[in-house]
Amino acid sequence: MASEQKGTNTICTHTGSVEDKLYKGATSPLYMSTSYAFEEVDVKRYPRYFNTPNQEALGKKLAALEHTEKAMIFGSGMAAISTALMTFLQAGDHIIFQQTLYGGTYNFAVTQLERFGISYSFTDGWRASDFEKEIRSNTKVIYVETPSNPLLTITDLNGVAEVAKRHGIMTMIDNTFASPINQNPVDFGIDLVIHSATKYMGGHSDICAGVIASTEENMEKVFQTAICFGGSLSDYTVWLLERSLKTMGLRVKAQNSNAQRIATYLEQSPDIEKVYYPGLMKHPDHELAKAQMKDFGGMLSFELNQEIDVTLFFKHLKLIKPSMSLAGVESTVSSPVKTSHALMSPEDRTKQGIKDSLVRFSLGIEDFEDLKGDIEQAIAKVKSMRVHA
Ligand SMILES: *Cc1c(COP(=O)(O)O)cnc(C)c1O
Repeated sequence: MASEQKGTNTICTHTGSVEDKLYKGATSPLYMSTSYAFEEVDVKRYPRYFNTPNQEALGKKLAALEHTEKAMIFGSGMAAISTALMTFLQAGDHIIFQQTLYGGTYNFAVTQLERFGISYSFTDGWRASDFEKEIRSNTKVIYVETPSNPLLTITDLNGVAEVAKRHGIMTMIDNTFASPINQNPVDFGIDLVIHSATKYMGGHSDICAGVIASTEENMEKVFQTAICFGGSLSDYTVWLLERSLKTMGLRVKAQNSNAQRIATYLEQSPDIEKVYYPGLMKHPDHELAKAQMKDFGGMLSFELNQEIDVTLFFKHLKLIKPSMSLAGVESTVSSPVKTSHALMSPEDRTKQGIKDSLVRFSLGIEDFEDLKGDIEQAIAKVKSMRVHA
């Protein structure tokens, strides 16, 4: 593919635009029509058929970014995830999920799959051997998330793909945390890539969207299911997402850099117990991350020292906002115990290594010194309150 030879930032900016033939404007014209003349187009165009001019163009950009033949845009990450799973699974099938899973995907698995006669297992860990152990005669799909939420564990993509191929099983990945800027899973043998475009692709905390990218053959199957489930995205938001993607390379580069520098700073701080970031030499899978990622991403987690209360720390942050979501240009923190993993039992959380003092940090594009200063002043405030109490 010609687009594969172009640099990522050039793809972000130029590939998959709608040409403005009428006025030669710099940006894609927005076609909001839900009705197209049937005698003048060779395909029946309709938003729920994922083939309006803006949907088709953006699909090309996303396919080029993920090194796949085709990509489709959905109304949310969960619309993409549920459509992908319901396309390749049927009654009697079994799927293996990685132990640490995005909360919504976990919820979909445990509340929906059984009533369709689909069984599932969760791995005990994130090694390729942990996936192989769960394989049954009816296993059809292996589903991976790397780096994982919230502890940033790294799954060996080559290893899992090799195990799956040996057993004739399809592999899917939720590549949201890495973004296509930092990781292209199909280069390591993974069959199908999913994104919550609500995160790094949108990047400004104002778009809810999802993506599936894979081969022509797989995407034809996805298409047949997707037109039934109807999870398409409004053309206006498609257009907005195209605009956002033009700067994704620059944004993610700044977020990667902030995460690496903040992780290094936190690692040296006496007020921090532990830092989880694949870019740190100390991370147990640093070498693996280096082999399969172009950079280490904008997400990290850390544990505060026991004396520093998480709630008070959050209260005293001025710049960094406690938030439910992630990956925006603005830095945010969350407490997994209170948000994404609140429904999990304390025993299960302990088993997965998620402590009450854990803070998940989504780095934005602000200046490093300001972020560092905000953390320092918040910790100092919490400590001084303890002294005066
Ligand atoms: C947010 C998120 C999703 C779900 O995406 P929505 O756009 O909220 O439906 C899936 N996976 C990961 C890793 C996410 O962070």
